Amino acid sequence: MEKKAVIIPAAGSGTRLGSDIPKPYIKILGKTILQRSIERFIDVEGLTQVIVATSVNYLKDCQEIFENINYSNISFQVIVGGTERQYSIENALNELSDDVSLVAIHDAVRPFVDSEQISNCFKAASEFGGAVLGVPAKDTIKKVDKENIIKETPDRSELWQAQTPQIFKKELLKEAYKFAIDNNFLGTDDASLVERIGGHIKMIESSRNNFKITYPLDLRVAELIIENNL
Ligand code: C5P
Repeated sequence: MEKKAVIIPAAGSGTRLGSDIPKPYIKILGKTILQRSIERFIDVEGLTQVIVATSVNYLKDCQEIFENINYSNISFQVIVGGTERQYSIENALNELSDDVSLVAIHDAVRPFVDSEQISNCFKAASEFGGAVLGVPAKDTIKKVDKENIIKETPDRSELWQAQTPQIFKKELLKEAYKFAIDNNFLGTDDASLVERIGGHIKMIESSRNNFKITYPLDLRVAELIIENNL
């Protein structure tokens, strides 16, 4: 059985949500979003390591969440994140155990990811080198210039919205991050870094429930999902 780790970037601010508390630490029906996200992973077969990257002020809150979960076969670690999501993950990569071969990266603010889909994604990453969860684009996507003039309409049937987890063989992911650092590349997800070094990444169809809690409305939707077991 390949050993697996999950890195959870949780060092973002709550700016777009209009909250003083960073999103991962907001409680929905008594439990933080971060705890809900971590709990989706703890029963994954072969998971040995959970690393959360968070801001300095929340190290203690994160430790308390680990104590609530208290799972004996898994090592839980919290580290200080960076000013960008990519830098938060860069810091976490240095903490990976030598014996881990597959690494998942999962946004702290996607608490509704399905455990079976996580397992499917791990299987595909083991086979292809990388795999990410996503959904086909619902809206027509436009490419615009700096003045917002539409330049192009890519064929929607070829467009997907990438979610997390994004899972990779450890060496491939580390190489991709090193290449990004060396070439000053800043991506908005992990797959874009691996694509740059020619890695093969499989898209796995997920559910729209696996959305990223970003705006105030998302928080209301999250409450509804939990309250009504949707
Ligand atoms: O800001 P965005 O919605 O892209 O954040 C996605 C995830 O990355 C969130 O879980 C957030 O906490 C995390 N993040 C981070 N470090 C940053 C910015 C975002 O760990 N500097």
